[in-house]
Amino acid sequence: MLTLPQEQRRALWRQLIDRIEHYFETIDQRHVSVPSNPEDIRAQLEPLDFLQPMKPEDAIAFVVDGLWQHQVHTSHARYYGLFNPNPTTMGIAADLLAAAFNPQLAAWSHNPLACEIEQHLVRQIGLRFGYDANSVAGSFTSGGAEANHTGLLCALTHTFPSFTDVGLRDIPGQPVLYVSDESHHSFAKAARLCGIGSEAVTHIPLNRSHVMDADALVVRIHRDRGEGKVPFFVVATMGTTNAGLLDPLNEIAEVAGRHDLWLHADAAWGGAAAFVPELRPCLGQIERADSITFDAHKWLSVPMGAGMFFTRHNDILDRTFGVDTQYMPLAREHPIVEPHRTTMQWSRRFIGLKVFLSLLVAGWDGYERALRHQTNMGDLLRDKLEAHDWRVVNHTPLPTVCFIDALAGANNSLERLSSIARQLVDSGKAWLSTTRIGGSVPVLRATITNYRTQPADLDALIADLNEARRSVG
Ligand SMILES: *Cc1c(COP(=O)(O)O)cnc(C)c1O
Repeated sequence: MLTLPQEQRRALWRQLIDRIEHYFETIDQRHVSVPSNPEDIRAQLEPLDFLQPMKPEDAIAFVVDGLWQHQVHTSHARYYGLFNPNPTTMGIAADLLAAAFNPQLAAWSHNPLACEIEQHLVRQIGLRFGYDANSVAGSFTSGGAEANHTGLLCALTHTFPSFTDVGLRDIPGQPVLYVSDESHHSFAKAARLCGIGSEAVTHIPLNRSHVMDADALVVRIHRDRGEGKVPFFVVATMGTTNAGLLDPLNEIAEVAGRHDLWLHADAAWGGAAAFVPELRPCLGQIERADSITFDAHKWLSVPMGAGMFFTRHNDILDRTFGVDTQYMPLAREHPIVEPHRTTMQWSRRFIGLKVFLSLLVAGWDGYERALRHQTNMGDLLRDKLEAHDWRVVNHTPLPTVCFIDALAGANNSLERLSSIARQLVDSGKAWLSTTRIGGSVPVLRATITNYRTQPADLDALIADLNEARRSVG
């Protein structure tokens, strides 16, 4: 039962592939999303008590129909959402292969090729950020949150070497880390998980461009030191989730250098700018960062579950995560990176394969063109919005566009903007959202997350927005 007879298995693979291909061929003709409610979904699940085995093809059909119905389709060309991609073809193939060959990446000796592919990618992508390929270290993570958590742990180990053995006991005061008001909330979780508590996370106010005010950072460091606290970590967010804005990394690096703080660049989405020559300058001297978070499952468009962590301190991962066991096979003859000693995870999926196959086939050039296309679509969206009396309120070279209704005057409340967004989302014609920049200014938010989005899609979005603003009054 756990494996199917050969003929049935062959038929099932074919059926599966046909259903996947059908999804991509027809998704744009369907609604981006359809409202779901938990009662309907639970009513479909309730009869499935596992007492009656189901035919494999019926089981697959049940799931495929359900996913069509109850999901925001991030592969749709009119999904303007939260950095979730339309997955690359090669990335999907890679995930299928990873499931079938099922390599176990805890120990190098079990899967030398998989481990070497991942380290090759760490070196190649690390180089694009300006790290030295001979000294860069890093790993694949479940996503940006794990990579940020890894950065925080490495900084604790680096700054307080006894941290790995005795924990916080020997730290001479309350440890403090600095993020901007627009940073990602995974740092609050990471601080909890590291045991320093979310109160250790200190928010530095934004300047008028809605990015970290480096002068305010300096003031805060002096104040905290004066109060006996122990600053050790600062985050430069390179592409904020809200508005695609970039903290002034070079200035923050100066401050970090002078005050002996570990600088972490959270480039989960915006890091892809490193692959496009004309966008690379917006990342500043990111190679000065002690560590970097980058998510391949965002702008590199590989399927979910592909974060990356990089650091230029090539012994820090082993110092942070290395523990000795009797049972793990170690490869002692050669200098290798042992995954279970250098990451938070133990048994690990071959995450890097989807990046490897996507890059092998698209090449740097294919990615450069796709990223540039999306950036151009972002610029075009800004132009079209302005031409139709919407006002763009964020200024970034990256394709996240925050805007308000220029015809509404003072009537740009979050409520009204949300009604506009809801009308589009409920109609299934597009998916976009609202947020508040800097915690205050309400805006509509659209990101070009799909490399297939074309000018005609943007025209449709503008037409739908214009109609929505009339109908909400
Ligand atoms: C998405 C994002 C994260 C979190 O990454 P996950 O892959 O969702 O865990 C962290 N920081 C920034 C800036 C992000 O955009």
